Amino acid sequence: MQQGRIVRGIAGFYYVKLDDGSIIECKARGKFRKDKLSPIVGDNVIVEKIDEEKGVIDEILPRKNELIRPQVSNIDQALLVFALREPDISLEVLDRILVLTEYNNIEAVICFNKADLDVENKFDYLSNIYGKIGYRVIKTNAKTGEGIEEIKEILKNKTTVFAGPSGVGKSTMFNKVQNKVIMQTGEISKKVSRGKHTTRHAELIDLDDNTYLVDTPGFSLIDLSFIEPDELYRYFREFNEYSSECRFTSCLHNKEKDCRVKEMVEEGIISKERYENYIKFLNELQQNRRYK
Ligand code: GDP
Ligand code: ZN
Repeated sequence: MQQGRIVRGIAGFYYVKLDDGSIIECKARGKFRKDKLSPIVGDNVIVEKIDEEKGVIDEILPRKNELIRPQVSNIDQALLVFALREPDISLEVLDRILVLTEYNNIEAVICFNKADLDVENKFDYLSNIYGKIGYRVIKTNAKTGEGIEEIKEILKNKTTVFAGPSGVGKSTMFNKVQNKVIMQTGEISKKVSRGKHTTRHAELIDLDDNTYLVDTPGFSLIDLSFIEPDELYRYFREFNEYSSECRFTSCLHNKEKDCRVKEMVEEGIISKERYENYIKFLNELQQNRRYK
């Protein structure tokens, strides 16, 4: 028995990278079907080798987390890429994705790309909002390579999914960090838009021994409707240290009296923009519940 990681899956075959670096083609044992548990890309597995090229997956080790789209497990971090201009940043989209990374227990690193277009110096303003609440924030120019060394350092020994709107420079950056051009700029987005009905399986791209990139951007669906309205505030990390000081233990930091979170917004300790997005998402979730 040997341990490895599934880096690719096609039609019932799983490609497992073993600890010695070799990749073998595996089938899963029948017992998984009974347990309604199928191996997915990203899983750490125990395999029994049949020969040098083939094996059987015997056990799936516990998953740290699991994304649905792309379907991939054991993600360490998400690199959220936004452009400082062209296209303009939507903080609503950024905050939505951050709710999803918090919910999935995935560390988020925020990368503001197209530094060369940042004539209004939006970067300082943004890095203040997001850096203050503990997110690592980086400025890059994927075209010239500025900041790419720092990105490479961040990717080291982790499994990373890229996320962000289209046109912000994800593919350009993806190519740069790999030191080779295996993907045409724009190809990531093309793959994703191939249509709803074609399932596209994620792959792990092996940059280094323990360094993997998910080849398909994650969190492209930023639907929050599965989140309970009264749990939403937990995914705004800066609210946590104050929410226990509200008068009501069930405080949603909305219309309640003596809300410590709202006081912090008034005092400028909690970002007003973030708080407004919180209220927007909260209203949305509460509306959804009413119609159910
Ligand atoms: P994706 O849709 O997020 O994968 O974005 P792409 O990587 O396809 O990039 C979209 C466009 O932005 C391309 O024309 C890139 O050449 C350009 N681009 C990428 N990074 C930068 C940057 O740092 N500065 C500028 N000015 N353009 C960039
Ligand atoms: Zn409150």
